[in-house]
Amino acid sequence: MDRNIFEEEHEMFRDAARSFLIKEVQPHVDRWAEQEVVDRDAFLKAGEQGLLCMWADEEYGGAGVKDFRYEQILMEENAKYGDVGFFMFLHSRLVGPYIGDLGTEEQKMRWLPKCVSGEYVLAIAMTEPGAGSDISGIRTRAEDKGDHFLLNGSKTFISNGILADLVIVVAKTNSDNDHGMSLFVVERGMEGFERGKNLKKMGMHSQDTAELFFNNVKVPKENLLGELNRGFYHLMHFLAEERLLSAVGSLATAEAAFAITFDYACERLAFGRRIADFQVNRFKFADMRTEMDVAQAFVDRCVMVHNDGELSADDAAKAKLYATELEDRVTDTCVQLHGGNGYMDEYPISRMYTNARVSRIYAGSSEIMREIIARSIGLDPRKKKSHHDAA
Ligand SMILES: Cc1cc2nc3c(=O)[nH]c(=O)nc-3n(C[C@H](O)[C@H](O)[C@H](O)COP(=O)(O)OP(=O)(O)OC[C@H]3O[C@@H](n4cnc5c(N)ncnc54)[C@H](O)[C@@H]3O)c2cc1C
Repeated sequence: MDRNIFEEEHEMFRDAARSFLIKEVQPHVDRWAEQEVVDRDAFLKAGEQGLLCMWADEEYGGAGVKDFRYEQILMEENAKYGDVGFFMFLHSRLVGPYIGDLGTEEQKMRWLPKCVSGEYVLAIAMTEPGAGSDISGIRTRAEDKGDHFLLNGSKTFISNGILADLVIVVAKTNSDNDHGMSLFVVERGMEGFERGKNLKKMGMHSQDTAELFFNNVKVPKENLLGELNRGFYHLMHFLAEERLLSAVGSLATAEAAFAITFDYACERLAFGRRIADFQVNRFKFADMRTEMDVAQAFVDRCVMVHNDGELSADDAAKAKLYATELEDRVTDTCVQLHGGNGYMDEYPISRMYTNARVSRIYAGSSEIMREIIARSIGLDPRKKKSHHDAA
């Protein structure tokens, strides 16, 4: 089915993004996977091209483009021609908006221009060894010491953790309340801020994922982001966009996997026929095509609703749940259609399969997505309502 959400200027942007990725990202994919981190200057190059924090207003160096379709296009092209471990999306759309929306004028002037140029790389640190899905369990805390906060604790699994220059750290600031937390911008070089090792992972090898440690870090008062003790609510506010990003990325990977596998199955022969011509495989392609078209219609609709500022948490959760689980089914089927080659690192489908596994875990696991969706239809044991009340 043709997609109908893009105008001519979007297609022009798609061409420009593709050219950039083919020139500046594609040649480095293998080396980045080996060194387990993208080159630092990849961010600078993306910044030069105007691809980072496109939403930022011109006074902060950005293009003032709020339309999410541009980010969607960039993700789609990146899945095909770039490197899904190059987390410019986390930088631009997952972390950047915290500064753009919650920052004071002084903070925005201080940080945003360098986020747009790629001189600063961004990360967000919520997860801790003992708290992931349940963020209220975090133990990192920040004490008010008059002219600064004293930050102590540790975080784990932090994407862009090695490269990041600014990390938004979630810390408890009110021990009387499970949700009494605040957001702090911790800067590279602050005394007591240490990075652990770059963590070894099943997939997404070019993405630096690290532990972070905060030992008596003096965070100036000017680095509190948003309101004191309102951190939990600030996090909830940005989660719909985070989940939409995840859905867009997963669907884009599924499409990319389908495309290369389709070509492969049309060339590879067995028993005198193309692999693609066995009925069982034709039906696999038919099923994948159907599911991806149906998912795309929903995700595209979510993008447009998000552009109007109306995307609900439960619709974003549905998009993420469905797209990430579909990505898993598609990449798995595509490995199977490649046979032994599908297990070999030199075939891109092999990496797509291992990269995809994390999509159902981070940015809220599939189980947490189902929890959100169930609550949205009245199945919320916390409220002890009967299903009659919910109807
Ligand atoms: C590669 C990678 C990158 C990441 N990047 C970041 C990052 O940049 N910043 C950051 O802060 N975090 C990041 N994370 C952390 C990620 O968000 C968490 O791993 C995720 O939220 C799950 O938390 P957990 O690992 O503690 O699992 P747990 O919360 O311990 O969950 C374990 C299992 O229990 C299930 N479960 C939990 N609660 C429920 C429930 N109520 N009902 C049913 N099942 C439940 C989960 O779905 C899961 O299957 C990253 C993780 C990975 C793997």
